[in-house]
Amino acid sequence: MGGPVRTTVKAYATGLYRRNDDRAENHRLLAAEAQGYLAAGFTAMKTKVGFGFADDIALVEMLRQTIGPDVALFVDANHGCDRVQAARLARAMEPLDIGWFEEPVEPEDIEGYAELRGRTTIPIAGGECSFTRHDFRRILEARAMDVIQPDTASCGGLSEAKRIADMAWTHGTRYNPHVWGTGIGLAAAMQLLAVLPTTTPAFGAHHPLLEYDSTPHPFRQDLLVEPVRVESGIAHVPQGPGLGVEIRRDVLERWRVN
Ligand SMILES: [Mg+2]
Repeated sequence: MGGPVRTTVKAYATGLYRRNDDRAENHRLLAAEAQGYLAAGFTAMKTKVGFGFADDIALVEMLRQTIGPDVALFVDANHGCDRVQAARLARAMEPLDIGWFEEPVEPEDIEGYAELRGRTTIPIAGGECSFTRHDFRRILEARAMDVIQPDTASCGGLSEAKRIADMAWTHGTRYNPHVWGTGIGLAAAMQLLAVLPTTTPAFGAHHPLLEYDSTPHPFRQDLLVEPVRVESGIAHVPQGPGLGVEIRRDVLERWRVN
């Protein structure tokens, strides 16, 4: 893979999913969740949008107020908007200092991403539903995204992820892997994060972030003999051979589907 350039990676907390149809109740729950991430030492977190303009804006405003101006806040629509909705939402979120707007529109609509980039100051992200260097070549050549997010476990594996990373670097596009699912996928992403170059080699260079799903998930940490260490919002790259982790066979058996 070319050798590590870092042994720790800043993690952002993925969570803040709507849990209730009652807006006030939902805001109360998600404000408490956001405060929990702050207490755990996270300095970046991500929530979901794409539930309707008024609902989205109210939630993002509430979260920004809760976490203050110094914590990064990302939003993810999981391609839940069309281009008109995405542009309107993006423009309205601009004063809220949003780190990126992830998957605003359908992943296949590469021109839609490029168009949206031209209509907002919020960086546009995506790529968890794109696969292999061929999909990402098209995305990068179209300058469709500011941040690409291939999933190490589904974009074609670690070697393919590294090829995509080298292409992104050549195009001056940021790369933050999508991470969601098992501890094995998380460990693979950590090994990739260890070798990702900074977009520009500079003293104030922007380093890639770890997406750290912070919602309960037995496949993530329970599956590993030594879970990937995330402390005070900083993840430590496993140092053992291979992916650096060992699987707990008893946990694997517990969740086996025959
Ligand atoms: Mg996403």
